[in-house]
Amino acid sequence: WRSVGGQPLFFARGSGCRLWDVDGNEFIDYVGSWGPLILGHADPRVLDAVNKAVSRGTSYGAPTEYEVRMAALVHEFMPAIEMVRFVNSGTEATMSALRLARAHTGRHMILKFDGGYHGHEDALLVKAGSGAAAHGIPDSAGIHPDYAASTLVAPYNGLEAVEALFRANKGKIAAVIVEPVAGNMGVVPPGAGFLQGLRDITRRDGALLIFDEVMTGFRVHPGGAQALYGVSPDVTCLGKIVGGGFPVGAYGASREIMQNVAPLGAMYQAGTLSGNPVAMAAGIATLEALKRPGVYERLAQVTERLADGLAEAFREAEVPATVNRVCGMFTVFFTRGPVTDMESAGKSDRQSFAKFFHAMVEEGVYPPPSQFEAWFPSLAHADADIEATVSAARRALKK
Ligand code: PMP
Repeated sequence: WRSVGGQPLFFARGSGCRLWDVDGNEFIDYVGSWGPLILGHADPRVLDAVNKAVSRGTSYGAPTEYEVRMAALVHEFMPAIEMVRFVNSGTEATMSALRLARAHTGRHMILKFDGGYHGHEDALLVKAGSGAAAHGIPDSAGIHPDYAASTLVAPYNGLEAVEALFRANKGKIAAVIVEPVAGNMGVVPPGAGFLQGLRDITRRDGALLIFDEVMTGFRVHPGGAQALYGVSPDVTCLGKIVGGGFPVGAYGASREIMQNVAPLGAMYQAGTLSGNPVAMAAGIATLEALKRPGVYERLAQVTERLADGLAEAFREAEVPATVNRVCGMFTVFFTRGPVTDMESAGKSDRQSFAKFFHAMVEEGVYPPPSQFEAWFPSLAHADADIEATVSAARRALKK
């Protein structure tokens, strides 16, 4: 992700929606560290909270009041999470969620979706999108074949394929793990009834439904995609925004399911730095800021203006494009579309995307450097920044 065609940018500073590279070039940033920075870079509320926490020591390897406050906040945003464990990354969250599902069900198989990325856990690096898709390597070297063998893959939005896999593996599937709005094949919203269909199928079979809300949590809606679409998963994975720019992930579920985790249950999971006060303070400050009225209306407005402005610029330039958008995230696919799964996303003209990306960088805008990633507008993007971005896109498309 960071190699950017072999020419990565090295950044020196960020403030609000802006980044400066080591050569002093200024950019309007739409990567936002891949999603966490919903308030923008160096938000004073987050910095204050972090400074206060850090002056009291960085980690104790023991519970703190911060962790309890964070847990209460997460529950307030996502009531389906009755108990929660904090970890240090999204990968740790999904890895632990799989173990939890296996522990709870006594089954081994996992069903994921083509183009779904859930971090670099072995069992999930099968048909993962994002960096893997951009580099044309659907699987990674170094993965034990047994791990991959226990992972089933269906097309995103492909309920019939999910039904068929459940029929063929009755009583063997521990969990379905899904990005409730896909972000790692570029943004692909769930089709009507897709998430509810997964809910019904898993419930019928006794498998767990895991929503990987590492990207969508606190972004598409304060309560995540589960609130936006009104479908409640058994287990939720969080990351990115929940850490306010620090290394935090989380997994949570009902009390009954979480009681499988040690010391209450037999499923082991631990972490030296998990729940450390500095990271928790950053997360608390971020979530508190997101509780202010009008925040999500504004984020939706920024997303819509930018996505619509770019779509218009592409139409004017007569460059075929499909813009998929949900509050706080969108992707411009270089294809006529529609884009509903990895196969249709894969029809995008990646060479044109690369040219567009580099032209945007020359124009002082930093979009995600892969066709299969989401743009992340933030609350720090002002209307003038959106207009400047659309104008930059017009010039880039002309080039
Ligand atoms: N799940 C999803 C949906 C993600 O987008 C990502 C990271 N892009 C991860 C999990 C992994 O998180 P991390 O990089 O913090 O390990």
